[in-house]
Amino acid sequence: MTEMRKSNSISYLPVHQMPTQYREPYILTGYREPCSTCKSCLRSLIRASNETLNVWTHFLPIIYFLNRAIQFYSNNDSGCFEFQYYPFMPNYIGIIFYHLASSIAHLFCSMSIKYRHTCFYIDYSGICIYAMGAGITYYNLYVLPNAPTNNYPLSQIAFTILSFGVSLSVCLVSCISRHYWRSTGAVIRTGAFAINLIFNTSPSLWLFWQNQLPSATHLVRQWSWYVAAITAYVFKIPEKFAPGKFDVIGHSHQWFHVFLSLGTVEQINSLEFDVNACRPKYMPSDAPSFFITIGSMMLAILLNALIVSICSYKLARHAKMD
Ligand SMILES: [Zn+2]
Repeated sequence: MTEMRKSNSISYLPVHQMPTQYREPYILTGYREPCSTCKSCLRSLIRASNETLNVWTHFLPIIYFLNRAIQFYSNNDSGCFEFQYYPFMPNYIGIIFYHLASSIAHLFCSMSIKYRHTCFYIDYSGICIYAMGAGITYYNLYVLPNAPTNNYPLSQIAFTILSFGVSLSVCLVSCISRHYWRSTGAVIRTGAFAINLIFNTSPSLWLFWQNQLPSATHLVRQWSWYVAAITAYVFKIPEKFAPGKFDVIGHSHQWFHVFLSLGTVEQINSLEFDVNACRPKYMPSDAPSFFITIGSMMLAILLNALIVSICSYKLARHAKMD
């Protein structure tokens, strides 16, 4: 694998001047130079390339979601230090994490090919951390004692082991898919992320299936946005129908980001609606502890970081051997 000369410039190139690993299907212009420096990537934030809006469409929602989290906790007397509200923090952390990971990935992905792969490993790990955070929150809200139904088929220990197992496997498979299944990688990753999210939010889907979910309307809207996001991403809509016309504004990856964030807004609406409708009132003795909730989330972040580090290390070793 040959490293190209570092470039500080931010001139933009057409697709035929780009190495194949940097090309996006049906995007013909607006590529930043491969092997850009960190500085030129930062400068490209305010210059219109085919990645600029990919960064902003996931960076700006961070402000919105931080505000939602602050509002949620400030509306409750004891805020995030009240044990009743520990279980909701992993979901907010996961949401911020996946938006931030995605913004960083798209901002710096025009650096060397090694950095490009690592950027997207971080992006995939962000989605897996989000799913794991959702899993912790959903189980504690919808299944634990005093919730409206307790017939969800998995115990907390079984759910937690499966959640970690599924999410970490998805993170690993997604990273590997960039190298071994390049032609079908996007479809494999989308399927894997969908399975991961469906499993981790299954406590609410279980209630929905039994017609017992107070926030059913929000849940339907949430998944409709996710289906729209997957459709745009997998079928490359709209650029597939007019290659070159949506290079900078309006291509499928931007719609993918926007629809995902809108789905996440509905997810928060759904959870906050159900907090009032069916939140379990924990006794101090059986309340989920700080360690079980936020501690699990920290462990999820650490394990995902470990997978990203191992994949990046393998990549660097492979590059040295080439
Ligand atoms: Zn993205």
